[in-house]
Amino acid sequence: MSQIRDLDRAHVLHPWSTQSKVTSPVIARASGALLWDEDGREYMDFMSQLCNVNVGHGDPRIVEAIKTAADDLIYTAPTFLNRPQSTLARRLAEVTPGDLNRSFFTTSGSEANESAIQLARLVTGREKIISRYRSYHGATYAAHTLSGGKLRLHAGPGIPGVIHALEQYCYRCPFGQSYPGCGIECASQFEHLFELEGPDLIAAVIVEPIAHNDGVLVPPPEYLARLRELCDRHGVLLIFDEVLTGFGRTGRWFAADHWSVVPDMMTIGKGLTSGYAALGAVVIREEVARYFDDHPIPFGFTNSGMPMAFSIANAVIDVLVDDDLVAEADRKGRILSAGLEVLRDRHPIIGDIRGRGLMYGVELVTDRISKAPLTATLAGLTAGTIDALTPLRARMPELGLLLQVRGNVLRFYPPLVISEAQIGRALDIVDDALSLVRPEALSASR
Ligand code: PLP
Repeated sequence: MSQIRDLDRAHVLHPWSTQSKVTSPVIARASGALLWDEDGREYMDFMSQLCNVNVGHGDPRIVEAIKTAADDLIYTAPTFLNRPQSTLARRLAEVTPGDLNRSFFTTSGSEANESAIQLARLVTGREKIISRYRSYHGATYAAHTLSGGKLRLHAGPGIPGVIHALEQYCYRCPFGQSYPGCGIECASQFEHLFELEGPDLIAAVIVEPIAHNDGVLVPPPEYLARLRELCDRHGVLLIFDEVLTGFGRTGRWFAADHWSVVPDMMTIGKGLTSGYAALGAVVIREEVARYFDDHPIPFGFTNSGMPMAFSIANAVIDVLVDDDLVAEADRKGRILSAGLEVLRDRHPIIGDIRGRGLMYGVELVTDRISKAPLTATLAGLTAGTIDALTPLRARMPELGLLLQVRGNVLRFYPPLVISEAQIGRALDIVDDALSLVRPEALSASR
């Protein structure tokens, strides 16, 4: 075992992990879409790490901006003004949809969501927030409560006043409907929730336009517009969490752009700095933000005004623009999606393929009729209990591919600088790994 692994095991606690089971490689360096471990082994980063390194690793233009910023000005308290901050806020007003115009900065996506709901409660004077099951909004207490996935259950009841709606999951519609002809019940349910919870008590609805945590859920085309209309009717603020979907990930600047719907607040993070600094923000519509011209914002974060982080975000936006990476994500996403369709023809265990741009989920099932998720225990393959996808998960890194498998969904989230050849190579590796999965053994073991 390497010295780094020994030290890590002795002194580090990793998030989302049982410490004795951490097997991730020791990464020594990175460039573009590639990572190398301490022994020089190369990996293709089809996760963009945590789906945040949109512009790729080690871009020399951003490294240069970091050096310049370090020479100029590293820190000021967030109540002070500085040029990189006002420049970034103006640029965010330009790239975000509609009249989203003013930014409240944070140091993470979780804090952005915490802040958004606090701001929404202040503006509306109302308490309740509606979010959805099958969502992820972060790891702090309130963000965890908003999140609907099973991870939140450890947080106990969480913060009061949060109500969860059912998901927009066409492949497994929780309302037993199929699109079209479903009346977009996943959106109409909000009408019932408003009615039952008292619309004048609800401050905001928060949703990810494309939810990622439980399987890359792309909503039906009418969904977000219908939510917008319902929120408008009842004076409820609509918040889009674009922490993961922002900055070109889906082939548009923001996922909301696919449906031309403008929220009242948008939370951002991840791709904003592409992993080169810690920064998040709530970008707010002018007419909503104006409330704070005469009312205080009674909270903030020590490190959320760092000129250095703003300079890095400005450099990241420069790279996105100069290299036309948003359009590139759209173009390469089409290549990825066509390649995934070829895999669907070859592997009957592929039940569904969903996504936009360079954000795709591939849902695996035992067979396409029953749609039973392909993750149940496969007894008898080894002495221990192992998952049906264990061979696939082991195979991909062996062949140099880092791709996240969550539950029965493979997630394809490469950096936007991924090359066509790298996409082809990754698809070959996934093809190979999929052929190791034996659903018939799973059926026999049930
Ligand atoms: N919102 C979404 C949609 C996310 O995917 C994440 C992180 O994965 C967060 C919020 C939380 O962001 P952070 O981890 O920067 O706190």
